[in-house]
Amino acid sequence: MGLLAACGGPGTLRRRAALVSRMAKKTLEDCPPETLADQVVVVRVDYNLPLNRDGEVVDDTRLVRTLPTIQYLVEAGAKAVLLSHLGRPGGRPDPALSLRPVAGKLEEFLGYPVGFCPMTTGLQAQEAVQGMKSGEVLLLENTRFCPEDARNDAEWAEEEISFGTKLFVNDAFGAVHRAHASTQGVADAVRRCGGDAVAGFLLEREIRSLSDTMADPEHPFVTIIGGAKISNKIDVIEALLPAVDQLLIGGAMANTFFKAHGWAVGDSLVEEDRIDTARRLMDLAGDKLLLPVDVLTAPSITSDVSTCVSACDEVGEAQHIGDIGPRTAELFTDVVGGARTVIWSGPMGVFELAPFRSGTFEVARAAASTADQGATVIVGGGDSAAAAVAAGVVDRITHVSTGGSASLEFLSGNEMPAVAALSDR
Ligand code: ADP
Ligand code: MG
Repeated sequence: MGLLAACGGPGTLRRRAALVSRMAKKTLEDCPPETLADQVVVVRVDYNLPLNRDGEVVDDTRLVRTLPTIQYLVEAGAKAVLLSHLGRPGGRPDPALSLRPVAGKLEEFLGYPVGFCPMTTGLQAQEAVQGMKSGEVLLLENTRFCPEDARNDAEWAEEEISFGTKLFVNDAFGAVHRAHASTQGVADAVRRCGGDAVAGFLLEREIRSLSDTMADPEHPFVTIIGGAKISNKIDVIEALLPAVDQLLIGGAMANTFFKAHGWAVGDSLVEEDRIDTARRLMDLAGDKLLLPVDVLTAPSITSDVSTCVSACDEVGEAQHIGDIGPRTAELFTDVVGGARTVIWSGPMGVFELAPFRSGTFEVARAAASTADQGATVIVGGGDSAAAAVAAGVVDRITHVSTGGSASLEFLSGNEMPAVAALSDR
């Protein structure tokens, strides 16, 4: 165990698979409990949880997935100092993005008190850490209240480990694609001091699931890409194309492909500046690419409209495409049903609104059924994960990634700077 691989550098899947077996990184499994007692261990978590207008946490999946790492440290008698970002406060304190309510949530799950410090660095944070006893947990305030985090400031990172810290645990998969002070900077700093930077259990599981699937996917290998924009997903489409047997495109992204075919899309969302890209991807993919054959349209994308089914080359003027149509849902369900490996990123329509949710839900249910039959099904992307929850199938999916952009970057073969910065085994 403990074989964690850092995928790095742009490259083909085969090259990346080679990297996987070569570049193994240390994980928390390499840290026996007896070495942790009374140690101040700094842990980067991703508590960038969705909050409602009242500041209440609406989805705590990312938090729940960090519990094994925190419990391991607590049971070993370490002092766990947690760092996380929340939202995009832009380097300034913003009370609406305080982590204080998240500390309360963590306390509920752990069943014992979790300290919260309203500062991330400075005297108050130092004193809070110095006052910790063995087996205690302390969450520091949002790292992005400090401009140094996004700047990857080395001095700031050093201050975060200035408690004699010899171990940094990164358990924030959703942030590993960012070279920030709280991700890469702290890892580098702790290694400079002769300590270790290791992957926590969540990070290890994420990387293992994604890299194992990519290194040797069972065929047929089907990828479903949807969501709002092609521009967000060109890299992942290009990286996956050589490996997949079939690429299904849905969501607003399909509209740009329709345009590339010369079909009218009414008032639907289109990326005019990506029509050439769509054309190039169609040439590259050949008959691996499956576009919708029909779509659901409505005069507006709102929760109370009635919808029509149109062939995708017959969308009327002033119509908005809001979902794939029933024939497409059937076609996609068949393809997914025959797959042995599925990667799904991006909803098929505006699933947040009742009139446009059925295409996404049908694909989600098909993915869950094929997983029930032993296929490997990976869901990457925050909205797709939310759709899998809303469709009631999330527990049947092989792996739902906690990292939206991070999982796409990983699958695209891009370097993960915060993983590269971990200690080699
Ligand atoms: P993920 O987070 O799973 O990667 P994206 O963020 O790429 O997914 O895209 C999700 C968004 O795309 C959703 O908010 C959804 O409403 C939107 N979307 C999907 N299809 C359409 C469409 N036809 N028109 C407008 N928006 C769409
Ligand atoms: Mg999204």
